[in-house]
Amino acid sequence: MIGHWVSLVRHTPLAILTDLDGTLLPFAPTPEEARPDPGLMTLLRSLASRPGLRVVIVSGRPHTTLERYFPDEALWLVAEHGTWYRAEGAWQPTIELAPEPIHRLAERLEEMARAHPGARVERKSWSCALHYRRMPHHARAAFGVEASVILEDFLARHPSFERIEGEQVIEIRAAAARKSFAVTWARQRLGADVRLVALGDDLTDEHLFAALSPTDEGVLVRGGVPRRTHARWEVGGVADARAFLAFIDDARSEGKRMSLSAVPLAPVRPRVPSLAAPSSLLVVSNRLPDLRSSESVDPVRRVNVGGLVSALEPILAERHGLWLGWGGRVVPDCDEPGYGVDEGSPPLAWFDYRQSWLRDYYSGFCNATLWPLLHSFPSRVVIDETTWRSYVDVHEAFADAAQRYVTPHDTLWVHDYHLLLFARTMRARGHRGPIGLFLHVPFPGPDIFSILPWAREVLGAMLEFDLVGFHTHGYVANFTACAASLLGSVAGPHVVEHSGHFTSVEAFPIGILPESFQEAPEPALVAEIQDLTRSLGSTRLVLGVDRLDYTKGIPERLLAFGRLLELYPEWRGRVSLIQISVPSRADIPEYVEQRASVEGIVGRVNGQFGEPHWVPIRYLYRGYSRAHLSRLYRAAHVGYVTPLRDGMNLVAKEYVAAQDPDDPGVLLLSEFAGAAAEMKDALLTNPYYTDGMARDLDRALRMPLEERRARHGRLLAVTERTTALSWAESFLAALSERSPRRGT
Ligand code: UDP
Repeated sequence: MIGHWVSLVRHTPLAILTDLDGTLLPFAPTPEEARPDPGLMTLLRSLASRPGLRVVIVSGRPHTTLERYFPDEALWLVAEHGTWYRAEGAWQPTIELAPEPIHRLAERLEEMARAHPGARVERKSWSCALHYRRMPHHARAAFGVEASVILEDFLARHPSFERIEGEQVIEIRAAAARKSFAVTWARQRLGADVRLVALGDDLTDEHLFAALSPTDEGVLVRGGVPRRTHARWEVGGVADARAFLAFIDDARSEGKRMSLSAVPLAPVRPRVPSLAAPSSLLVVSNRLPDLRSSESVDPVRRVNVGGLVSALEPILAERHGLWLGWGGRVVPDCDEPGYGVDEGSPPLAWFDYRQSWLRDYYSGFCNATLWPLLHSFPSRVVIDETTWRSYVDVHEAFADAAQRYVTPHDTLWVHDYHLLLFARTMRARGHRGPIGLFLHVPFPGPDIFSILPWAREVLGAMLEFDLVGFHTHGYVANFTACAASLLGSVAGPHVVEHSGHFTSVEAFPIGILPESFQEAPEPALVAEIQDLTRSLGSTRLVLGVDRLDYTKGIPERLLAFGRLLELYPEWRGRVSLIQISVPSRADIPEYVEQRASVEGIVGRVNGQFGEPHWVPIRYLYRGYSRAHLSRLYRAAHVGYVTPLRDGMNLVAKEYVAAQDPDDPGVLLLSEFAGAAAEMKDALLTNPYYTDGMARDLDRALRMPLEERRARHGRLLAVTERTTALSWAESFLAALSERSPRRGT
């Protein structure tokens, strides 16, 4: 860490961009009382005198105030959140906007403030700030309401202004005002090879941090409420921020240039654990695990990574790791995607997608090409060069983001079909640490995979990973067959050689955390589920739980249930099916069609067989919490898990874990789910064969207690043998063992 900082702060040219209030000056009751003291002035002057170093004060204060505080032109100044800057001794505005509206607003606010002792209005060129730090606490609520009425009225009529909340101050300012102007300006004046260190404490400083490039650093000065930030480093408060500047001053002094040991430790802490420890872990996946970060376009995928979070959280903590992915926010193509780190457990680093990435990369190549291809639905595979190019480009964006957080020796664990080219992209950028891929979906044989015009390129790139993991031996065999047949690679049972590089290829069946489906439920939840099952009017319950995806075979499953009622009329009025379908990828036409088809079948079966006191199929188009699912699983006599193709299928394992061992239900499982490779004691069925599935359903419903117990005991042992945790540990252990040592 010390080496990183010394080499950065000794770089020439270097610019320090720093906020003033809350960063270098403690807050005072009024802005006038917070002014630079002699100690700060001496420090800033010393820094500004260092050759090759520029200090830029980037403040929200009026430019007239900054001019008064810092008449010395050696300091560069950016005032009023980037709307003014001082160049060659003269102040210049950066935006063009009529100032009259804001003057009128300031007058209204001043009039209001007169009636509220302690309230104060600060006027600036295109903004005005309403300070309430000196107001008594009990008077603030009424004041806030009164102020908001005036401010909202103003904003509704003047869209070129915006409201921002600061430290006990509300500010209305030109929406175009951005502190990031300072970054652009410093680069223009100091050249492209300048490196920047930015310090700031409040939300307006985030624009500054967000505009930095990967070779710059942002330092958050902690003070207020913890929040998300783009800064990768932090200091404890104003005193530490000054100590940090003193460290830079010291590190650039001539006498200290020779020896690292003469430089005291930088008083900054990494906000991203991976920066602290050499050779740590970066997990990379398309989506991030939960809703801590920005709003989501497809909340369902977050639900789905729930198990993965539990598996990775302890490993990330132990290995000082970080999880990188798309935060769920989309920006227009003309905007720069934002980056940020969200502390917590597990720590997340996120970045935004551009609109075209969502369309061409995510909905296009990932979900309209690779998803059907890897699940063996060749007729659904869309071949489109634009989306392929986007797939290649987005790997570069992921690599840009990854390089912010890793050293070239760190371990990278990449997840799923969204990132098949990632090892190639990172190796081209000089990454030497181990890189592993786990594919959460199936892998088809060469006859299907070769449909992809870029099959060889994708396979070649996959063979630049050190380890590629699949759920089953069948997928491993398909992958090695593809490598042998399409690339002519030499493949052993667990290793493939391509262009002199050896890739280990192994099965790591993913598991769940069984105990999390065995917890005693809340009584209210038990009652809710009882009400639901009672309302169906039957004694036996069959349960299907899936994302609404064509790979899940939901129409086939519903038809087979209808066929059961036809072939075995004795079940009419005695069994009901609850089908939970979690909305998924609703922007892709195939998924919209799938929904219509499922709803049509539900209507037909219920119309044909339903009675006033009995509903054959209850179809629920929404997601449920783990607690709800556990209870439903336990209440169901048959877990009806019949995908046409599925990488693993966690619902199968969850259903088993949730059963009452004394009176367990029966798992009716598709032979085309990855789970079938391990769960041989389930009742295996072929979802393409309607009559066969109806007969298997009948057998499941009639299965005697003794057989149910025996099968369940063995299935539970499988579920408990490989858990989510042991899966993650064994993958990482294999990655570390199988990766060759690459020189420094
Ligand atoms: N799931 C959920 N709420 C729901 C339906 C499903 O949390 O209403 C979870 C379920 O518990 C399981 C995951 O979603 O962990 C589905 O994983 P699976 O491997 O079965 O299918 P995928 O959606 O990943 O293809």
